[in-house]
Amino acid sequence: MDFEFSQEQERFRQEVRDFLEEEMRQGTFKPSCDAWIQGYSPEFTKKVAHKGWIGLTWPKEYGGQERSNMDRLILTEEMLRYGAPAACHWFADRQIGGSILTFGTEEQKRELLPKILRGEAYVGLGMSEPQAGSDLASLQTQAIEDGEDYVINGQKMWTSCAKFMNYNYLVARTDPDVPKHRGISEFIIETNLPGITITQTIDITGSEAWAEVFYDNVRVPKKCLIGEKNRGFYQIMHQLDYERAGLERLMGNYPLFEAIVQFTRESKQNGKSLSQDTLIRHKLAQLQVEFDVGRLLTYRVVMVMDEGRAPNVEAAMAKAYCTAFEQHLASIATEILGLYGQLVAESKWAPILGMAPHSFLGSKGYSLQAGTSEILRNIVASRGLGLPSSG
Ligand SMILES: Cc1cc2nc3c(=O)[nH]c(=O)nc-3n(C[C@H](O)[C@H](O)[C@H](O)COP(=O)(O)OP(=O)(O)OC[C@H]3O[C@@H](n4cnc5c(N)ncnc54)[C@H](O)[C@@H]3O)c2cc1C
Repeated sequence: MDFEFSQEQERFRQEVRDFLEEEMRQGTFKPSCDAWIQGYSPEFTKKVAHKGWIGLTWPKEYGGQERSNMDRLILTEEMLRYGAPAACHWFADRQIGGSILTFGTEEQKRELLPKILRGEAYVGLGMSEPQAGSDLASLQTQAIEDGEDYVINGQKMWTSCAKFMNYNYLVARTDPDVPKHRGISEFIIETNLPGITITQTIDITGSEAWAEVFYDNVRVPKKCLIGEKNRGFYQIMHQLDYERAGLERLMGNYPLFEAIVQFTRESKQNGKSLSQDTLIRHKLAQLQVEFDVGRLLTYRVVMVMDEGRAPNVEAAMAKAYCTAFEQHLASIATEILGLYGQLVAESKWAPILGMAPHSFLGSKGYSLQAGTSEILRNIVASRGLGLPSSG
């Protein structure tokens, strides 16, 4: 077993780092937590696109680079390490482009993939509804055929970065008269159509990164359907593995991890550096152990992908573990910072830019989004261990 990176991979990592350092120097971005999902910067996305780093693994015939998933992991690892604002292209690059490649028509591939690659199409994820989260098959949004169109009515919630997205990936019921898993289809639609209303959701951190999206008699041409009508649920399962598979589940708060370690080096209590305090050292060391385990779990996911297999159980395992690490990191950082650590970024007294309270509150959602930890453990139990489904 060889855990070393090749020279080419190391060179690529360095190239990404150099790029990010230069962009920071130029002021394109400042590192922040959750920047992969909340950092909206068309300027940055355009620059990433210009480097050819969106759709890195996609076939050359559609403008991709046909590089390995391992290369893509190296790229995303560095983006996350630097807290770079990649939200505009992240979802399309991670999962929706892959769905179009696997299930889309030739016309969709030729039209949509180049737009994503150029950093022009930002795609939001419209799956969850008020009554359909873990049990996604219960969704009620309908897309009913009418002549050459589908007419969409319903409500989505938690659509990430909805107000910035110019496309939405949408799952809707296309046949209400069959068992619920068999009447669902996938669509890609533009977000500026008549009948679409976006209402911001303000979350526990004060972030407006999510929204409810209402569809009121929204008419879309049939060419917006991805894949086979009524086979959407099975297609979604394929896509969700990719949503769960990445290092963003481990490194969304990496800037906080680095900052808290640095804080303990620089801060003193009773004349001694915090980094010399045994309890604090052990807590940070424990975090490093968990971080390294999470990283290996995620690298294993990518190994499975590069072998051409769907990373189902492996992705579930990695996401469940990594999000628990992120929550642990936020708790430990908050403990170490003490009372001042509760101050948010707007306060001039907030240590390490108020990252800790943001992460402490925001990380509660990590074990919900993209599949709750209970659902992921069910996957590991049934498909990994071969246990019967829960009753
Ligand atoms: C920050 C954030 C961002 C999100 N972004 C998006 C997005 O961009 N697009 C999108 O479509 N959705 C998004 N979501 C929604 C997310 O996918 C759902 O929250 C998730 O699927 C859980 O659904 P729910 O909230 O309805 O909870 P429920 O499904 O109602 O679950 C409630 C509780 O019951 C447990 N539970 C449910 N079923 C089972 C079971 N079978 N066995 C054991 N326990 C069970 C769950 O684990 C959970 O603890 C986001 C959510 C969050 C918090």
